[in-house]
Amino acid sequence: MNFIVLDLEWNQGYGSHTGKKPALTFEIIEIGAVKLSDKGQELEHFQAFVYPKVYDRMHYMTKEVTGLTIKELRRKGKPFRAVMEDFLSWCGEDYRFCTWGDMDLTELQKNCDYYNMRGLFDKPLYYYDLQKLFSLQYEDGKSRRNLKSAVEFFRLPERRAFHGAYSDACYTAEVFKKLDMERFGRFISVDYHVLPASKEEEIRLNFGTYAKYISREFPAKELALMDRGVTATTCYICGRKLRKKVRWFTNNGKQFYAASLCPEHGWLKGKIRIKKGSKGGVFVVKTEKLVEESVIEGIWQKQKELRKRRRRLRAAEKKKQE
Ligand SMILES: [Zn+2]
Repeated sequence: MNFIVLDLEWNQGYGSHTGKKPALTFEIIEIGAVKLSDKGQELEHFQAFVYPKVYDRMHYMTKEVTGLTIKELRRKGKPFRAVMEDFLSWCGEDYRFCTWGDMDLTELQKNCDYYNMRGLFDKPLYYYDLQKLFSLQYEDGKSRRNLKSAVEFFRLPERRAFHGAYSDACYTAEVFKKLDMERFGRFISVDYHVLPASKEEEIRLNFGTYAKYISREFPAKELALMDRGVTATTCYICGRKLRKKVRWFTNNGKQFYAASLCPEHGWLKGKIRIKKGSKGGVFVVKTEKLVEESVIEGIWQKQKELRKRRRRLRAAEKKKQE
């Protein structure tokens, strides 16, 4: 399997103050990519500009960052569809995308949707977020550096300007070569733009230190929270289905917490995030992590405070009615 290190540049409109949502928020104007073998050897490069269709003015930020002009794009660019066809045939059959950060693949698919190129990506896309892998290997796993600072971290030669899709893809590929994929390659990411179509396609990933589950889309939050696949807590070491010691609760309606106990591996903290799906419903991202008892104490405490607050609110409400 090859790795396709991908970077995009996009333009945007000025219309946000009108309150109207544009049909395409970010119009891709350049695609840059480097193809690497499974051993990290550089094989081929790709660069293409897109003939602008949605926006006929370059946003000042895009212009400032990329240095590109509409005139230049009209001269160098091909229609998005053609660029995308070239790009995908260049990618080949067996590959995995790698990007710096988690935005590019979503925007790529949104552009495909805009041009009715649905079906190119018909399943959730697995990819490597190299920005995240860099943080896992060299920092705390949570911090995020920009590409330039990662390039500086390795003291890589800076022969070209940053913020072109092609040059950034080249830099990202250089950073990729420094990453220890044997150790960190298990930390794969999933792009949620296309969700699992059915219960069978739902995603369950076990990273060894935590587990992640991505549900299909449900018409409503209440239905999601009634689904056993969503609410179950499972020890990702031994596979036991665990009974909850603290049932799912929330303080904002978006994030839910639960605590379970594995007789062999100890406390398991569950966290559910409710996200908006593409069909107007919701989907769930659940993470489960074995933790120290003190973390569970914190969850317990949170739940207690929440209950107290609710009681107080109810009492106040009652008083008002009297
Ligand atoms: Zn267990």
